[in-house]
Amino acid sequence: MTAGAQSAVTIAAEVRSGSRSASSVVDEHLARIEGAEPSVHAFNEVTADAARAAAAEVDRRVAAGDDVGPLAGVPIALKDNLCTLGVPTTCSSRILEGWVPPYDATVVSRLAAAGAISVGKTNLDEFAMGSSTENSAFGPTRNPRDTSRVPGGSSGGSAAAVAAGFAPISLGSDTGGSIRQPAAFCGVVGVKPTYGLVSRYGLIAFASSLDQIGPFATTVHDAAQLLEVIAGHDPYDATSIPEPAPSIVEHLDDGVQGLRVGIVTELMGDGISPAVTARVREAADALAAAGATVEEVSVPAVTYGLSAYYLIAPAEASSNLARYDGVRYGLRVDAATTNEMMVASRTAGFGDEVKRRIMLGTYALSAGYYDAFYGKAQKVRTLICRDFEAAYERFDVLLSPTAPTTAFEVGAIHDPLTMYLNDICTIPTNLAGHPAMSVPFGTDEGLPVGVQVLAPSLGEVPMFRVAAALEAAAPASSTAEVTS
Ligand code: GLN
Repeated sequence: MTAGAQSAVTIAAEVRSGSRSASSVVDEHLARIEGAEPSVHAFNEVTADAARAAAAEVDRRVAAGDDVGPLAGVPIALKDNLCTLGVPTTCSSRILEGWVPPYDATVVSRLAAAGAISVGKTNLDEFAMGSSTENSAFGPTRNPRDTSRVPGGSSGGSAAAVAAGFAPISLGSDTGGSIRQPAAFCGVVGVKPTYGLVSRYGLIAFASSLDQIGPFATTVHDAAQLLEVIAGHDPYDATSIPEPAPSIVEHLDDGVQGLRVGIVTELMGDGISPAVTARVREAADALAAAGATVEEVSVPAVTYGLSAYYLIAPAEASSNLARYDGVRYGLRVDAATTNEMMVASRTAGFGDEVKRRIMLGTYALSAGYYDAFYGKAQKVRTLICRDFEAAYERFDVLLSPTAPTTAFEVGAIHDPLTMYLNDICTIPTNLAGHPAMSVPFGTDEGLPVGVQVLAPSLGEVPMFRVAAALEAAAPASSTAEVTS
């Protein structure tokens, strides 16, 4: 944790008891932002005035004896693909220039109802497509642990904001790894919940069958508390699970005695840095020492995850992004005919990676190719689900690296395929709709390593129990103070 920074649950307890004012908490975080933001660039916009006003309102309500909620006075940073009423939401794209959402995403309303205070909108790879936050139209975010390196992506701004102590918690979105990989690179906790556990209403869609909103935090407890606040059925999202969300926080101290943990063989070899697999094995040993049974398990179809994802995700994106036509949202480049106006607007408004995905997806869905590409990818998706199901008959949770390497240098990766390989360990869970999270566990040459804990659908409780045990056993360097 950053020097002097407090956890979200500590802040909320102090604000609720009246021993600390929300205004002083917000001022302290805004001061930290002012100091280090120029070297990190976590934010597209810092909403300082609105945050101060919201904090004053929390303080007024505490003084009046109201129950202000479990995140009372806690600053939070929001990925800039979450709609915020009256505050520009850009997806770090020129195409949304000037667009201001007329409503709050469900998660944003739930946070406000729980007493949390948004301090701003964080930078991302344009439309959440990328693994380094270098695809932002507004310039890259830098990793607070080493500002010559990327924070990961696409939720790099949200991960960096937490790692830099700008806010104790933040929200990202994860379609193929965009919460877990930046969490690993920045040395924080990142959670991709079960598909349907958190409402997507007001999350600007990338690939709707894969997208999920989830927490970043410096501690497993904070991540669990934040997930409890945002989870639960929402009639505004047709894919939202119509059941009460599980209570997680009350199980964090249950330990791992008797839990069965499987290390995924296919994610421990080719393409993964030996230093990273070494940390995963140390994490597994720590779980065994804490009473879990640990074995290797083969989940063969995960090796096809990347190929299936890069057909399914672009196919859905090409359809979702058709709405940015220069008519309804943001940027319009005028031209002689409507068709030319749409072409000119999309040409000027989208960056290279987004254009690449739209072309890939349009091709994969086109007549004559649909069965060969999109249809085949959907079948592979089913195989991945089956192989996970077989593994979860024998294991409560699975373990793997979160990312194949630690954070790389800004500008180091030019080739899109090399960039896509960052997500080989995270993508399979998105395709299956399962939860997974990244927990910091040790370092390699001073840079954080993340261990990924995977669980079956709605397996958040065992997943968090294992995460809590890993956090307790992790070397102190895992959450070293930031240097910038
Ligand atoms: N890096 C992956 C991609 O570029 C995943 C992105 C995400 O999870 N939003 O598609």
